[in-house]
Amino acid sequence: MDAAVVAVIAVIIGTTAFSWWKQSMFSVLVSIACVVTMLLMYLPDPDNRFAIQFQLAFAPRDLIDPSHMTSVITSMYTHDVRGFTHIFFNLLVLFLIGMPFEERIGTRRFIVVYLLSGLVGTLVFALFRWNDLVIAFGASGSISGVLGAFIRLYPHEKMSLLFIPSLTFPLWLVGLGFLALQVVYAMGSYGIAYEAHLGGMLAGMAIAPILVKTPMHKRVKRMISLSSLRKLAKTPELKAILRRIEDEDLPDVRSAWVEQFISKAKCPHCGSPLKVTKESVMCEKGHLL
Ligand SMILES: [Zn+2]
Repeated sequence: MDAAVVAVIAVIIGTTAFSWWKQSMFSVLVSIACVVTMLLMYLPDPDNRFAIQFQLAFAPRDLIDPSHMTSVITSMYTHDVRGFTHIFFNLLVLFLIGMPFEERIGTRRFIVVYLLSGLVGTLVFALFRWNDLVIAFGASGSISGVLGAFIRLYPHEKMSLLFIPSLTFPLWLVGLGFLALQVVYAMGSYGIAYEAHLGGMLAGMAIAPILVKTPMHKRVKRMISLSSLRKLAKTPELKAILRRIEDEDLPDVRSAWVEQFISKAKCPHCGSPLKVTKESVMCEKGHLL
């Protein structure tokens, strides 16, 4: 195994463990891991980049070859070394859809949706292409899963996909557009693993409702009343999060929003950051909320 491949595996394990433990944005850490993977393919020896990409990418028969099995995971972080379009668009979609979804359901659930959908996407690809000499790589299986989960839970959520805030589409329509694109891919020969996209999306849709009912984050106790949160909502960002809290019915998701709110709010007495302890919410200087 090439040293670059070992390094990629270390980066994947490190970023995932850090994000799970610290509950810090996985969509950001995955993006960083994908960029680092790209650099690791290029930097040590640019002439060797296709050989490394080939080791990181997934081929259906890797499933029965113990020495290449790591490609099931490494392929999700690998992008086309011939240019930057592939990685750019995947990370853009991750930013547009992944970040808002992660903020809503919490980092740990997001990690589960992301990795499991990517895995299912890869397996579906292997199933349909078992006898072909093909390789697959890229974050799109996972991203399709995130889209599927987002649509299943919040079909009427509005998304602005083109950086024009006034131009928004409901998520279900984004999903239909995505499916139409897969039909186009399936009919032409673009070398795009649409099987992995569809498998990932279905996996995300199937996992989402189970996941939101599974407690994975420590819940903020209900001692914080909405009226005290309202007093703290001074910035537009906090006001937006407060609206989410008011509209949210799922207790666990609601608590993830409250946590998000607290992490961004300031103590009304001294202006220092707030934190959630076992029993209460207080600032660094000990003022209780
Ligand atoms: Zn204070």
